[in-house]
Amino acid sequence: MRLTHMRSSGDEERRLSDLRKKMPRELRALPIHVEFYFTSALYSTRMRKGHIRIVAHEAFIGAPYAVIRSLMWTALRADEAEGAPVAKHAARVKAYAAGDTFADVLLELELDEDATSIASDTHGQYFDLAEIFERVNTEYFNGTVARPRLTWNRTITHRKFGHYQPTTDTLMISITLDQAHVPAYAIEFVMYHELLHKRLGIDMVNGRRYAHTTEFRTQERAFRYYEKAQAFLAQLSHTVRSGN
Ligand SMILES: [Zn+2]
Repeated sequence: MRLTHMRSSGDEERRLSDLRKKMPRELRALPIHVEFYFTSALYSTRMRKGHIRIVAHEAFIGAPYAVIRSLMWTALRADEAEGAPVAKHAARVKAYAAGDTFADVLLELELDEDATSIASDTHGQYFDLAEIFERVNTEYFNGTVARPRLTWNRTITHRKFGHYQPTTDTLMISITLDQAHVPAYAIEFVMYHELLHKRLGIDMVNGRRYAHTTEFRTQERAFRYYEKAQAFLAQLSHTVRSGN
């Protein structure tokens, strides 16, 4: 687990003790261990002798405290908690897991693992990321973008098809796009989108990251097949999600 991704707040201990008061009486005294792992489930709970173990999916690392707290409440089925039914907390957890931040963290974590492994190959089965980068860089940036480290991710994704990590200057494209039926314009669009992130950087406002600014969206629309690419990716996302 990478603690660098954790956002810690000074009064979490106090909030935890608030939560405890609302838990079923027999569980109140037990220590709770929340651990983050790469698992297929969003979370699981085990009542062990002497402690409660909650295993949360590792992409919850860095989630807002409200989400982690809802996850704990859902996992512990602390029904009466805060007068809110478990369903409300479960919905908050599900919504977060379906969102962009969760997808981002997932890819970030994969990048971290990649960084320590051998240099990645830009050749996929159908596409070569180096070629795609050259084409997009020439056509949209007059060849002025320095080539980032290009890599395929290793797991199928359905929400995010690309990711740019500024700290390591690494651009990752989802292996989901390396298929015969994926048109070149779709993968070029994802490359273009991620290169815009490299070019435009991230705006920080009140400590929050804003990557898709108005300027970003305007430039994104300069992509020649913008509408077609968006439509294709939306369809692909739907297909992968429904598993057919
Ligand atoms: Zn983006």
